[in-house]
Amino acid sequence: KVTQHIEKANGKTLFSFEILPPLKGQNIQCIFDGIDPLMEFNPPFIDVTYHREEYEFKELENGLLQKKIVKKRPGTVGICAGIQNKYNVDAIPHILCGGFTKEDTENLLIDLDFLGIDNVVALRGDAVKSEIYFKAEKEGNAYASELVKQISDLNNGLYLDADLQNSNATDFCIGVAGYPEKHMEAPSMDSDIYFMKQKIKNGADYIITQMFFDNQKFFEYVEKCRAAGITVPIIPGLKPIATKKQLNLIPHRFKVDLPDDLIMAVVKAKDNDAVKQIGIEWCIAQSKELVKAGIPVLHYYSMGKAENIKAIANEVF
Ligand code: FAD
Repeated sequence: KVTQHIEKANGKTLFSFEILPPLKGQNIQCIFDGIDPLMEFNPPFIDVTYHREEYEFKELENGLLQKKIVKKRPGTVGICAGIQNKYNVDAIPHILCGGFTKEDTENLLIDLDFLGIDNVVALRGDAVKSEIYFKAEKEGNAYASELVKQISDLNNGLYLDADLQNSNATDFCIGVAGYPEKHMEAPSMDSDIYFMKQKIKNGADYIITQMFFDNQKFFEYVEKCRAAGITVPIIPGLKPIATKKQLNLIPHRFKVDLPDDLIMAVVKAKDNDAVKQIGIEWCIAQSKELVKAGIPVLHYYSMGKAENIKAIANEVF
């Protein structure tokens, strides 16, 4: 369990990272190729993101549009099982409210339990492309706090069918997402932290954050959480910038600010090789400051590309 890894580390900062399943049609070797170079830094756990199905519209010969459901990156659970099998480290599937009824979720949790996967990150998920706002399934969980409650219930042997007596109790360690610059839909940081407290009250064991590029925002977020009575570990999420395009994409997609110094360095960079180096150096500086502050784990968004994360870890761990 993540919380046990933190306890065992006894104050030493741990290294972990997140990968995403490959596009449909590839084999698991491409996942292992992205993990192998990072194993020397002894990650106690590796996260695997979940990607729900999207609706696409295909134009037919008669000009009408046909709605098609596509799942571009399946395989989260299989990849987690493959990672645990090959590397003997804990693999953590992200699980979503979106696209799942509570019964689907219960059955997914049973699969994970049978596979010996004891950690999950419980998330609401985003709206699919064809929706403006997130819409839960009719019989599904609408917020991550409700999903956390369902997992906690199963940890207490409480299944949806109340007639299931003397049932197997699962033992999941539950992570949830936190936003040092607040969640994009939250009207204020205070309201976002108010609902974070709900996730913790319902059984979340730790928080893992959205990426940020200014450590001060993370430190202030931790302070606000502590002031609100949240005592669980808060793990920072870090991503090195790698392309010029990300200067526009990252603030737009994740609603996070980029510091002016970082922006101008990237703007003036000669090409993307130079940008990659700037991103690595920025992330090393962030990481070193976080280690100095005694943060328990640094969690890197690798996106399956090990090279820049390895360059950072070489300097930090
Ligand atoms: P919630 O905690 O449910 O919060 C969503 C919003 O609702 C917030 O604004 C919150 O303040 C508000 N809120 C919460 N409870 C209530 C309530 N009871 N009433 C009113 N408002 C409320 N997405 C994926 O699709 N796959 C992934 O694998 C994935 N991994 C992620 C990993 C991390 C570390 C992070 C930070 C995000 C990840 N996401 C992933 C994105 C995430 O699904 C989105 O950010 C999503 O919009 C919110 O998810 P959440 O779990 O934070 O939602």
